[in-house]
Amino acid sequence: MVAHTPTLFACVALVATIMAFCLILVGQFNQRDGLLTIGVGLLAHALAYIGYSSYGHAPLWFTYGAANTLLAVALAFYGASLFRIVELPVPWWRVFAPAGLMLVLMASLIETLEPRMLAATLVLMVQCALIIHWTRRYIPAHGRARMLLIIGSSISLIGLGMRVVAVLGGGAAQMRYDVSNLKQTISVSIGTFTAMMISLGLVLLAKERSESLLQHLAQRDVLTGILNRRAILEQFSTELERARLGNAYLAVAMVDIDHFKQINDVYGHLAGEEMIRHCVCHLTQRLRHSDSIGRYGGEEFLLLLPGTSPEGAISVLDQLRASLAEAPAHFGGASIELRISIGVCCVVPEHADTTASLLARADAALYEAKGLGRNTLRLVH
Ligand code: GH3
Ligand code: MG
Ligand code: MG
Repeated sequence: MVAHTPTLFACVALVATIMAFCLILVGQFNQRDGLLTIGVGLLAHALAYIGYSSYGHAPLWFTYGAANTLLAVALAFYGASLFRIVELPVPWWRVFAPAGLMLVLMASLIETLEPRMLAATLVLMVQCALIIHWTRRYIPAHGRARMLLIIGSSISLIGLGMRVVAVLGGGAAQMRYDVSNLKQTISVSIGTFTAMMISLGLVLLAKERSESLLQHLAQRDVLTGILNRRAILEQFSTELERARLGNAYLAVAMVDIDHFKQINDVYGHLAGEEMIRHCVCHLTQRLRHSDSIGRYGGEEFLLLLPGTSPEGAISVLDQLRASLAEAPAHFGGASIELRISIGVCCVVPEHADTTASLLARADAALYEAKGLGRNTLRLVH
């Protein structure tokens, strides 16, 4: 089916305007989520297509030069949105340089046919390739937004590549914006389809990003930034199942700061909180990547050490205890010594072992450690 090319361009302009309006409307309330930048990109996109649709009825500098520059600006805004959404500084020069180049090329080649067509198409291809590059580099491998962005930009590259081949094959006159034929219909449809895919991909990326931020916040302890009680218990279930399936050791340690009430009483609650942060910082810096730590209660922490034998657990945890005792924290000019007691339960989990039963054993070991005078470690199997 051959569509009337100027009408097709006008339809795209209409859809892009509606989408731009919606995104600019909602994007202004939170400029950090990138929706406003996508909306501005879509607006430039709509203006470019208004230019294309009036090809032959308005000066060439507007219908071709300005329109292609606006399309390059639209792609630049899509690129900028990508950086904004993933909260990286936008490299404005790199993002907008192709649009500047487009302006210069259009100004100098506007009176030609093939060279201006080739130049415009090649600049747009570079921009699509850049979007693919940035997507692959800065967006985590999982996620549907990444897929949409890569597929959208890749199809766009193919569509633009087809235009280059047509122009090089002597078909430039057939690819003029006021000519309606099958090639033109396919080419404009591909362009439209991919523009929508890229903008939708960016909106989806913003949504995925805020979801993962919320998930991260829901799992973290506000004071220390480590896993909170619910998240470390979830991690515990996972590690327990893994150890059971792998028939491997799992060491579970309950750590409690000694005489913490006294620290609060003598130095105040702010100092107490600084001590909690100091303790967490000391422990996290010395744990392996595969170990987990979470704030189980006020000044109690749950540590999970997968694949660690009882001897290994004693050695690692006792070193942590001893090194913390030698690293006083500082608050308001005072040097405050911290001691911890540790209760450890180390098992190759059997069917009857549950998180609750292992926690109860680690807690009992901690209670024993406190009874032994504190600043010590007790292990149960
Ligand atoms: P023990 O050696 O037996 O553990 O003595 P302790 O004084 O540390 O006793 P316990 O562990 O029972 O006391 C915990 C205290 O920690 C009680 C509470 O006031 C304080 N605490 C809990 N969470 C926070 C917090 O977020 N900030 C501050 N400043 N204090 C906290
Ligand atoms: Mg305590
Ligand atoms: Mg306690």
